[in-house]
Amino acid sequence: MLPPRLALFAVALAAASALFACSPAAVRPMSAGDDPSLRLTALTALDQRVARVAQRLSEDNADLCPAVRLSAGWTLHSASQYSRELQPHARSRFGLEGDLPGVLAAPPTSAAAAAGLREGDLIVSVGDVALDRGSARAAPAFEGLAANIAALDRALADGTTRLGVRRGEELLSVSVQPQRSCGYEVQLNPSDELNARADGRRLFISTALAGFAESDDELAVILGHELAHHVLRHRTWSDIGGAGRVANESAAVSGAGSQEQQADRVGLFLAARAGYDTRIAAAFWRRFGAANWRVRYPQLRHASAESRARALEAVQVEIDARRARGEPLLP
Ligand SMILES: [Zn+2]
Repeated sequence: MLPPRLALFAVALAAASALFACSPAAVRPMSAGDDPSLRLTALTALDQRVARVAQRLSEDNADLCPAVRLSAGWTLHSASQYSRELQPHARSRFGLEGDLPGVLAAPPTSAAAAAGLREGDLIVSVGDVALDRGSARAAPAFEGLAANIAALDRALADGTTRLGVRRGEELLSVSVQPQRSCGYEVQLNPSDELNARADGRRLFISTALAGFAESDDELAVILGHELAHHVLRHRTWSDIGGAGRVANESAAVSGAGSQEQQADRVGLFLAARAGYDTRIAAAFWRRFGAANWRVRYPQLRHASAESRARALEAVQVEIDARRARGEPLLP
């Protein structure tokens, strides 16, 4: 059975799995053992790291993304996204209630943080409209949260948005000035497989791979590669991707070589443009290769970790040269 968090995206995952998953699989047990409270703490820390890196990549590369939107830069959640075992812990830790969206992450440079929002806030209304908390007796539903998030996205698409927010016993009115961002969700999926993929609408990264990344810089190399598949239009979806997304006609990046080589190259530029230290990329790939026998040897569509690392070193020379000449970091 799929963990509940995955169920909402089961259709998307089915589509994605038909595509090429970038990073091959390897089994790596999660830490934090069987204690649900510790597991929730570990999962939350990963969610927040992924949110932080994704927000910077998405905002600093909006001009290159084919689909854009105005975004608060937050990550929202409800109890429905957690396994039955974690749900009571998530409810009490974050004050979650029914289908109302809770703030799981408001990264430091996000519009959400600028508006004063923080982890644990519960969004109860948008404009003058109360969000639907779902039936009190029914279990929280994926569809209910998705409908509330879509309502928020539509409001943000029009610009500055007033929200009613519950923080503990307090009821606050908060005004969010959304920022232009790439129009793709980033989804952290509980999985022991070291992989990430893009499906045209979302970026997926497994908990194992997010945990394998030892720094935000390493995480930015992984997510940058996946975002590059969107930027290069390798992954497309029949519509632009839901509430508030619009096509960015001026985005045009083309690449030579295989799709994976292109995504490695453009992804490194995307990470550098977001201010991450991309000099770690080659060493990261070598470490990844050493941890995973599957990437030590070239396969049908996979270059070996060593050849990818060498190619990334060459891209880094290109990035350094552009910086030295004072040129914009355009891939
Ligand atoms: Zn890829």
